Amino acid sequence: MKKDYYAILGVSTNATSDEIKKAFRKLAHQHHPDKEGGDATKFKEANEAYQVLSDDGKRKKYDQFGADFDKYGGGSHGHSWEDYAQQSGFGFNNGVEFDMSDLGEMFGDMFGFGGGRRSSQQSRGANLQLELAIDFREAAFGEKKDVRFSRQVSCVQCAGTGAEKGSPRPTCKPCNGSGQVVTIKRSIFGAMQTASPCAPCKGTGTIIEKSCKECHGEGRTRKDVMLSVSIPAGIDDGETIRLRGEGDTGQHGMPSGDLFIRMRVKPDKRFVRQGADLYCTVPLKITDSILGATIPIDTLDGEVDMKVPAGTKSGTQFRLANLGVHYLNKNGRGSLIAQVDVAPPKSLYKKQKELLEQLKKEGL
Ligand SMILES: [Zn+2]
Ligand SMILES: [Zn+2]
Repeated sequence: MKKDYYAILGVSTNATSDEIKKAFRKLAHQHHPDKEGGDATKFKEANEAYQVLSDDGKRKKYDQFGADFDKYGGGSHGHSWEDYAQQSGFGFNNGVEFDMSDLGEMFGDMFGFGGGRRSSQQSRGANLQLELAIDFREAAFGEKKDVRFSRQVSCVQCAGTGAEKGSPRPTCKPCNGSGQVVTIKRSIFGAMQTASPCAPCKGTGTIIEKSCKECHGEGRTRKDVMLSVSIPAGIDDGETIRLRGEGDTGQHGMPSGDLFIRMRVKPDKRFVRQGADLYCTVPLKITDSILGATIPIDTLDGEVDMKVPAGTKSGTQFRLANLGVHYLNKNGRGSLIAQVDVAPPKSLYKKQKELLEQLKKEGL
């Protein structure tokens, strides 16, 4: 297949090595598969083009033979993250674009945990995010909810291999079928031998001659799925639960991503929630505030009688233990805090007014 490496990098055929380097860096940043919106195929393409055009000898051959370049032994196979890290300035060498997660990955690579995630060929499944609206009570007590969403799943047609059913799968030559290439890497710890997944066969050890029609060789297809999710008691609005491995399925046996569900808790007019405690306001008659009374109040557990002692002032708060929301991830519940609001009646009957006038005379 003819590939125009100049077009891939977006440079002219007489571009200087600096221009080529610049163009590659820009594309690498843009398409890096670990970035959101990254594109493993484009990243790989750019890397391949750069391998050739950044090497004077290879570039000359490419210019001369063009489409048949591969036949002359200049092809670029087996370039992985490590190559990229060294060429582009990511990683230890000069600290450009370096962060702790990179460090973790690099240690992983060095100590031989495969490091496939850093390969431009394979990718872990993407994390997915969704929002779920739940009722106030469901958040307080927990609930099982069915969640529908679309995710990438292993292709049934090709069992996730990406190869058309029954098509030949010859052994990959560059890795001799092992699916791994061993490279020597220099780092701050000295030279280290690392194994990384073989690029031409995507770490599988065999070559796909015919791509699966269903998934176009991806090994995955997008599907609507339903998942029964346990909402933990005590979750609050805006909080997120994480379901490991329920995101997009990884490619070619790579791990699946995670599913993050952000809770949207519908408010309840009667209560204001603060952590595991609930606050409510209870109207109280003047006579009840003076004489004391037992009044019914609304709780999450239904109606409950609350005792108000004689002489209760407006604004007094009563704590009703164990009638709040469940604590998240531990036993017990918060309280319901009821604040009484003593309100004078808006209008009085003649008889009521006369009685109150009488009380006033009595000095009340
Ligand atoms: Zn398939
Ligand atoms: Zn291979």
